[in-house]
Amino acid sequence: MTIPLGFWSRFRLYFLFETFVTETGLGESLHICSPIDGVYKSRFSRVGTITEDHSLAESLQIVHHPHPTLRHKSKPVQRVDGELVRVVRRMFDLMYEAKGIGLAANQVDLPLRLFVVNLAAQKGEGEEMVFINPVLSKPKGHEKMEEGCLSLPGVYGDVERPKQITVHSFNLRGEEIKTELDGMMSRVVQHETDHLDGRMFTDRLTETGKLSVRGLMEEFEVDFESKQNTGEIPVDSALNSRRAELETRYC
Ligand SMILES: [Zn+2]
Repeated sequence: MTIPLGFWSRFRLYFLFETFVTETGLGESLHICSPIDGVYKSRFSRVGTITEDHSLAESLQIVHHPHPTLRHKSKPVQRVDGELVRVVRRMFDLMYEAKGIGLAANQVDLPLRLFVVNLAAQKGEGEEMVFINPVLSKPKGHEKMEEGCLSLPGVYGDVERPKQITVHSFNLRGEEIKTELDGMMSRVVQHETDHLDGRMFTDRLTETGKLSVRGLMEEFEVDFESKQNTGEIPVDSALNSRRAELETRYC
């Protein structure tokens, strides 16, 4: 997500929450949990040996509206392997390159229920946080704030959301995180969780707001169609097959 705020001046903010784990003991059993009927039930998933296949992480790029994965409701992650740890590292790097503060898996064409956040928007600064299978609850108050999105660069609009929120999620080590959030972190976590449900911030604009960004969004739609026609972006059926394969592996 990108959120241009007054106090952060012209800094383009894109969103996310939790300490990124660079050393996760790959090859060990990782404790991964998934929400079932609103209750978290834990399970142990044996991860395989470290693979030298870096192709998934290295191939990732940020996708733009109207890429169909941005409209995909992601399923909970059930296992973490070495490749997924590299995927998360790559997501942080892509987010920093784009001057963002948060990035959801959908935005790199992955149907996985996770997102990354660093409010500092710079590598080596701030705190890197990973949220896996987040569940939001206990919304309090209302606040309007201008938002932007790495999947819609240059498009901004005011979005009203709860001011405070409680998030319940997991990190890469399968450790449970439950915390109350407010301010920018609350905003980012809500924006990124929307992505996991296939929702863009523009869906939450007022009718006037939607009208004001319509032209820009249509430009992205023309560009996307052109790239699919030239083969630069795979056709929808190929994108659907790839998502299904990834869900079989991780969900
Ligand atoms: Zn976004």
